Amino acid sequence: MNIATPISHACCDHSFEPEHLHATVSQLFKPSGVDGVYGRTGAYESVIEALAALISSHRPQDAEVFRFAPVMPRASLEKQGYLNSFPQLIGAVSTLTGSDRDISKSAAKYENGGDWTEDLKPSDLVLAPAACYPIYPIAAGRGIVPDEGYVFDVAADCFRHEPSRHVDRFQSFRMREYVRIGTPQQIQDFREPWVERAKGIADAIGLSYIVEVANDPFFGRVGTMMANQQREDALKFELLVPVRSAQSPTACMSFNYHKEHFGEVWGLHNAAGQVLHTGCVAFGMDRLAVALFVTHGAKIADWPAGVRQALRL
Ligand code: 5GP
Ligand code: ZN
Repeated sequence: MNIATPISHACCDHSFEPEHLHATVSQLFKPSGVDGVYGRTGAYESVIEALAALISSHRPQDAEVFRFAPVMPRASLEKQGYLNSFPQLIGAVSTLTGSDRDISKSAAKYENGGDWTEDLKPSDLVLAPAACYPIYPIAAGRGIVPDEGYVFDVAADCFRHEPSRHVDRFQSFRMREYVRIGTPQQIQDFREPWVERAKGIADAIGLSYIVEVANDPFFGRVGTMMANQQREDALKFELLVPVRSAQSPTACMSFNYHKEHFGEVWGLHNAAGQVLHTGCVAFGMDRLAVALFVTHGAKIADWPAGVRQALRL
């Protein structure tokens, strides 16, 4: 999409982008030709870096830092049940394989107007849909989890197959997370204060927000039931910022309790043999940056002094 196109052409699905967003956002992004994937300007990246530093300043004591690749093992995603829950979001890596002769035959199909992609074979990699997924097998690989549990600081470029022309929905976006592994009480003691801390971060950078119970986009009819249950059990909260409109604010952070899901899948347990629970707080770095530009304007120099001070910009 060209995000600078007039609103009447900008969107064919649901609500139109408010026009004022186009002026701001077209200064930050260069369209790639595929919806939801952009080249980002230096000014935009300076805000991403400033946000990352601000979030790091709230890093829980003893958190271990890991940074993950934008790809992860396909087998891990399969094992954790992603095909049941979110098959619609998957992006998988496929490659040309075989002898040099096979590969040049496939590649030549493009020159000859044929379809070279029909020769692609799935590799053992998928694109990471969340930053925290690779940490659970790493933690489990260490054996018995100590009684104090674990806290991790993770980040990755994530992919979700959700092509969209909306400025708050990318196919490829950066996610930062703090992840807790421990007893149900330890997860609760981690998640609740994080909701308050996250509100403090949003206040410091001048974003207005609401925090609401939420659900993940579970797939299909069974998925609707899972989503309802997730809401009923208040397993997910989101901090939503009015980016496109106040009526449908955008989830910029989420606070998740997965209960025993990852503990069971990966065999996370303590010395007493108890299956451990997990939770995470996720920061959508790109959404937060877009929210800042939409709220305070395209020129960082014109942002409120307090906001620039909080971000050291
Ligand atoms: P969740 O796992 O809760 O869906 O995602 C965690 C965070 O990643 C969200 O709160 C949001 O800030 C960010 N995120 C999720 N989907 C998208 C998306 O399509 N585009 C962008 N820019 N950020 C996203
Ligand atoms: Zn997570």
